[in-house]
Amino acid sequence: DVTSTKNHNFEDYALKRELLMGIFEKGFEKPSPIQEESIPLALTGESILARAKNGTGKTAAFLIPALEKLDPAKPYIQALVLVPTRELALQTSQIAKELGAHLNIEVMVTTGGTTLRDDILRFRQPVHILVATPGRVLDLASKGVCNLTHCQTLIMDEADKLLAPEFQDAGVEVLRFLPPNRQILLFSATFPITVKSFKDQFMCTAHEINLMDELTLKGVTQYYAFVEERQKVQCLNSLFRKLQVNQSMIFCNSVNRVVLLAKKITELGYSCFYIHAKMPQVNRNRVFHDFRNQGCRNLVCSDLFTRGIDIPTVNVVINFDLPHNSETYLHRIGRSGRFGHLGLAINLITYEDRHNLYRIERDLGTEIKPIPADIPLELY
Ligand code: ADP
Ligand code: MG
Repeated sequence: DVTSTKNHNFEDYALKRELLMGIFEKGFEKPSPIQEESIPLALTGESILARAKNGTGKTAAFLIPALEKLDPAKPYIQALVLVPTRELALQTSQIAKELGAHLNIEVMVTTGGTTLRDDILRFRQPVHILVATPGRVLDLASKGVCNLTHCQTLIMDEADKLLAPEFQDAGVEVLRFLPPNRQILLFSATFPITVKSFKDQFMCTAHEINLMDELTLKGVTQYYAFVEERQKVQCLNSLFRKLQVNQSMIFCNSVNRVVLLAKKITELGYSCFYIHAKMPQVNRNRVFHDFRNQGCRNLVCSDLFTRGIDIPTVNVVINFDLPHNSETYLHRIGRSGRFGHLGLAINLITYEDRHNLYRIERDLGTEIKPIPADIPLELY
């Protein structure tokens, strides 16, 4: 999924030397397949709808062309990256800063959960690339705090999520603030039908890139264990004893269950953080930062962390609760097995879940096997 087919090199794209430096300093040696497809095409200014599996390098696939096209001498926003969560905004802006470290550009991140007044001050300085969640950028743009009239490139990462009803047409709203000849880049691993109508309406000449011959990552081995609801914690305990967890993410279907489970895991004597959207932003930031720096082995999370979060040290994902739909399942298990790493996905299944499990297998064309007594270490 991440080994190149065209055998391109980053040097092939006539990128600025300063940008190449940033790419190599991140440790990227060769472009991944999605980067090989998107970078040259996006550099021409074409709009793109790009679909590729989780963990295959989509972020750099849109950031590299966006950074290449920036003119540092022009003191205004030239690229806007929209993402569905604040943590993903932080992560993405960090990567933009790293890739663009030698370009002499200003990357800014703006999300809900911070005061508007701080943003107003920060926008007095020139910003070249803005990473944002939709609500906040719409707020700033409509108040005239940030000017998007010269923003040539609009990127929507996890585009299908951004175009889902919960974001109330924010994607369409944002377009009103951009120039008419803007380029739009949509990226995701999943593109349900809702994306098609946006594409037909606003980017009818866009190119489609589809690198999904099958849906699930080859590197992720998926298992299920049948349990009763009241046995789930006990089952988790025996999994922790049996598995070589480097770091794990454990998903629950509600905020309450996240908090309760984290408490139980801590009582069992395992190090554990939790994160969900109802926590104060400062706590969210601290947990995200500390977990990423391996300050803790296990993270219990809600679907806040289903999309885009890239923590390569996570080798085990556990669905403590099976998600209700197949797309969510695919994104959750894609938190392990990033960029060619191996990973395990383990699903705790109650009797009521069984039909849902079969449906997920069918939808994704994948096999979720019963958990064996011994899981070979070389699988993760
Ligand atoms: P996606 O958005 O497709 O899920 P990400 O953009 O989060 O994937 O990238 C997944 C991981 O792969 C990240 O840790 C990133 O640093 C790494 N990565 C991306 N491109 C390359 C590359 N060309 N070479 C090596 N590692 C890469
Ligand atoms: Mg991503």
